[in-house]
Amino acid sequence: MPSTHDILVTGAAGFLGSHLCDRLLERGHRVVGLDNLCSGTRDNLAHLQAHPRFRFVEQNVTAPCTLQVDRIYNLACPASPPHYQQDPVGTTLTSVLGTWRMLELARRCGARLLQASTSEIYGDPAVHPQREDYHGDVNTVGPRACYDEGKRCAETLCFDYLRQHGVAVRVARIFNTYGPRMLPDDGRVVSNFIVQALHGQDITLYGDGRQTRCFCFVDDTVDGLLRLMESDSTGPVNLGNPHEITMRVLAAEVLALTGSSAQLVFRPLPQDDPRRRCPDIALAQRVLGWSPQVPLAQGLRRTIDDFARRLASPRTPDEAALPLASASPRPQAGQEAARGGPASW
Ligand code: NAD
Ligand code: UDP
Repeated sequence: MPSTHDILVTGAAGFLGSHLCDRLLERGHRVVGLDNLCSGTRDNLAHLQAHPRFRFVEQNVTAPCTLQVDRIYNLACPASPPHYQQDPVGTTLTSVLGTWRMLELARRCGARLLQASTSEIYGDPAVHPQREDYHGDVNTVGPRACYDEGKRCAETLCFDYLRQHGVAVRVARIFNTYGPRMLPDDGRVVSNFIVQALHGQDITLYGDGRQTRCFCFVDDTVDGLLRLMESDSTGPVNLGNPHEITMRVLAAEVLALTGSSAQLVFRPLPQDDPRRRCPDIALAQRVLGWSPQVPLAQGLRRTIDDFARRLASPRTPDEAALPLASASPRPQAGQEAARGGPASW
């Protein structure tokens, strides 16, 4: 029987974090989800409301945290460009101060910390596909820098905590991930195209639509995160699906799978939008025995079904109510934590 852990997931109410909580609970762990709900939603965790091994703390990752845990998955950070550019100073601080706060927690608890880094640290890459030893090409003063540079600094902090304080860190460079529970209005390309297709609205291609990305289904990404956390490798390790496509091809796939007759329209390319992106996953294959299993058409089908269901019956805020530090066999978090103050058991 594999050992179980007390695990903190920051960014738990987000797209990736909520799937990660599900998988950790399935494996028998006790999980605290921490989130300030800035780009996540209680809906994503509503099904865990009565779970005896889960509780939720509404708090900023940059605030003091006195939880006692032995694993920390640090996912807190808005990930969609419109979200992270809404409060760019807050985005940088979330990555830098939030990761510092979590590393300090890891140091105090003797916990292992996995940092959710990103392919964005490669910027608009001059090397293709991107291997972990490529150092990237990021515009430090552009509108994406708050995200890219925040994540780069977070990686630096992780490796300095490893060298200076011996904290066990794991760094995952996650490439574009998609799947059920993405927000319909979060502005990322997969959610935009699916919502537009289902509503029969114009499909918005930015630029000429020939820029490329690689899309990894959420189950595969979460599997990679779980493997990395329990591996001996610190990383950084790329986690992504190497199947590279243009946004035009993605639009065609979504139109075919939804049976929609929506029209393509072209909109200006956002500043600093990377032209090509594709992970080299040889390292993940070698050290984690990991490679993506879900083909794009299958993952899109599951994502489209989820969007169709949610768009047909939107939940009310009351339906999505989550218990704050309730239904748990552990000591309860104080009211202060529930309101956003320091979290403790
Ligand atoms: P998301 O926006 O759905 O989830 C992020 C969550 O973090 C949200 O619930 C948000 O409310 C929370 N959050 C943000 N700032 C916070 C703060 N200061 N304090 C507490 N909570 C905060 O995004 P996602 O797609 O689930 O991404 C999760 C993580 O994975 C992020 O760190 C992101 O950078 C990384 N990542 C994601 C992708 C992807 O394609 N989804 C790719 C690369 C990296
Ligand atoms: N994109 C697009 N139409 C949209 C949203 C995005 O063509 O409605 C493009 C965007 O310009 C980028 C790609 O799709 O080239 C991926 O965008 P996303 O925001 O999903 O991820 P990121 O740019 O962070 O990889």
